[in-house]
Amino acid sequence: MAEEPKETAPGFQNPVAGFAVTFKAMFKKRLTEQYPEQKKTTAPRFHGRHQLNRHPDGLEKCVGCELCAWACPADAIYVEGADNTDEERYSPGERYGRVYQINYARCILCGLCIEACPTRALTMTNEFELADSSRANLIYTKEQLLAGLDEGMVDSPHSIFPGTDEQDYYRGLVTEAAPGTVRQVAVSKGELHQSASPSGAAEDEGVEA
Ligand code: SF4
Ligand code: SF4
Repeated sequence: MAEEPKETAPGFQNPVAGFAVTFKAMFKKRLTEQYPEQKKTTAPRFHGRHQLNRHPDGLEKCVGCELCAWACPADAIYVEGADNTDEERYSPGERYGRVYQINYARCILCGLCIEACPTRALTMTNEFELADSSRANLIYTKEQLLAGLDEGMVDSPHSIFPGTDEQDYYRGLVTEAAPGTVRQVAVSKGELHQSASPSGAAEDEGVEA
């Protein structure tokens, strides 16, 4: 047996019925956000721009292991590790991240990289304003991603806290830079040693990188 057609609104009501949704929406509270004049606070665990963290004395937590790069589904991270030396030390252990880049033209802010990081060197901030009109500007370098210096920190490179080892850093035994800690010369970045000339004036001494 053929199904009976459903009852529809009388023909003259059809043009008006179409506006029902419009009229209902007119009296609802507006949800328009006045961005960028008024910025909304993000959720505490919002996935925003990354940050490379430091130990409490200013040395870097990244050990250049590349696990974050391998975990990234968008191939957005590039890492090159290198060996620390006593004269130029960036992290407490053997290795550090010499080159670190995140390409925000690729990154989908999924957070898999921070899960993969064994030292909690990599975390995410709440900063979300990452748009740019240039692809080159969207590749953030280590210098841009590295956390700033808090009280008690000395910028890397510098020597390890005397009498401690790498494990002590992870046990939380190092809480600030040792008194008298000074930043070393970053020879690998092209910085030059300063040495006093016989005349007493300081002059640059070129050092092989
Ligand atoms: S947040 Fe996701 S996409 Fe972005 S760099 Fe990390 S793993 Fe890759
Ligand atoms: S951020 Fe973490 S996972 Fe990535 S290279 Fe550094 S230590 Fe390894």
